[in-house]
Amino acid sequence: MVWKLAQSPHATQLWCAPGNAGIGLERLAKNGSAVQCVNIGAEDLPKLLAFAKENRVELTVVGPDNPLAMGIVDLFKKNGLRIWGPNQKAAQFESSKVFSQNFMAKYGIPTAKAGSFSDAAAAKKFAASLGGKCVVKAAGLALGKGVLICQGTAEADKAIDDILVAKKFGAAGADIVIQEFLEGMEISLHAICDGKTAKLFPTSQDHKRAEDGDKGLNTGGMGTYSPTPFLSDAELTRVSNSILKPWLRGCAEEKIDYCGILYPGLMLTKAGPKVLEFNARFGDPETQVYLTRLENDLVELLNASVDGTLDKHVLRWNPAVSVCVVMASGGYPESYPKGKVISGLDEAGKLPDTKVFHAGTARNGDQIVTSGGRVLGVTAWRADLRAARDAAYAAVSRIQFDGAHYRRDIGAKAL
Ligand code: AMP
Repeated sequence: MVWKLAQSPHATQLWCAPGNAGIGLERLAKNGSAVQCVNIGAEDLPKLLAFAKENRVELTVVGPDNPLAMGIVDLFKKNGLRIWGPNQKAAQFESSKVFSQNFMAKYGIPTAKAGSFSDAAAAKKFAASLGGKCVVKAAGLALGKGVLICQGTAEADKAIDDILVAKKFGAAGADIVIQEFLEGMEISLHAICDGKTAKLFPTSQDHKRAEDGDKGLNTGGMGTYSPTPFLSDAELTRVSNSILKPWLRGCAEEKIDYCGILYPGLMLTKAGPKVLEFNARFGDPETQVYLTRLENDLVELLNASVDGTLDKHVLRWNPAVSVCVVMASGGYPESYPKGKVISGLDEAGKLPDTKVFHAGTARNGDQIVTSGGRVLGVTAWRADLRAARDAAYAAVSRIQFDGAHYRRDIGAKAL
């Protein structure tokens, strides 16, 4: 997002809290000034507010889910500051799976058969009624880890006990949602919203599992590409009508003023597309493939989203296919080492129509080192998927760090 915002002629100064080693290297197109990383955590709302006031920040853009759920938008607005993102009530679409499941039921949005529970016995009864083939989800925010896929009643009972009784995910698991297990192709949708209008992006597909062939543990996402061939334009319009129309009607009725990105995770089942969950922000790594294709000025779009004037904008997309391959630390999504020196970044960064987005990186003197699970989002865009994939993997091959792990099959399903 910082990379795209920095390209805007409207951006004259840009700060990122807390940022990373790559963000600190970005330069503004307008005046060549460097993006400044500010050492404030994304959840330290009082410090973020003080910083925005002191530096007369004209627009604050919220990236991650936690500060939205904590009410950063409400706090900034109360203090007369301009900020982009859903307020606390609207952010419940992501911060409370019980809220969004009830909303979908009330407004007829296609989703999995589901129930919400705080009592383990009632939850087990419902899981048994699904034959145990179900997905047990902590209702609150759990870093994308609070979703347990179960193949039978014994597994489901254990998942229910782990979350509701043993409190494996703490307060995020005070309630659970149990959904029937849906089979099909999973895709991601994004729509930018201003409370009245929702503009749908093209499709993208994430790869959630850690290993090739969709094996291994669920992660935050190991790679993406956009667009996907699994929904035609006509089908995408139908999906928009069946999901976004009732969603907007529901928001109006419930007085939810939704300014931000709505990101539904979708399963394309035999019985049609069904919503698995809603997120209330840009996805990672979906953003990497969307913003490398978006031709609009992002500052203008975000301002229109804040002002309620999105109906006056047409989203324009580069017809190229964009592919992002995530390079992760060895061991991720479980424990992994930090501080591994990363080499080859300059060489990879010089390749045409290629961008190496940093995630968990930090600076250590002259070196750039790993500092998180997902380290880099190596992204390339080309005329077709095969060429974009080859280009992304060619860039990956230039980059080394001890224990680097990445999937070799990003986009393979679409080939
Ligand atoms: P969520 O955070 O709710 O999207 O769940 C994380 C991942 O679990 C999703 O991206 C899917 O791959 C999988 N998943 C979630 N719900 C279901 C479901 N009802 N049926 C099948 N897979 C699911």
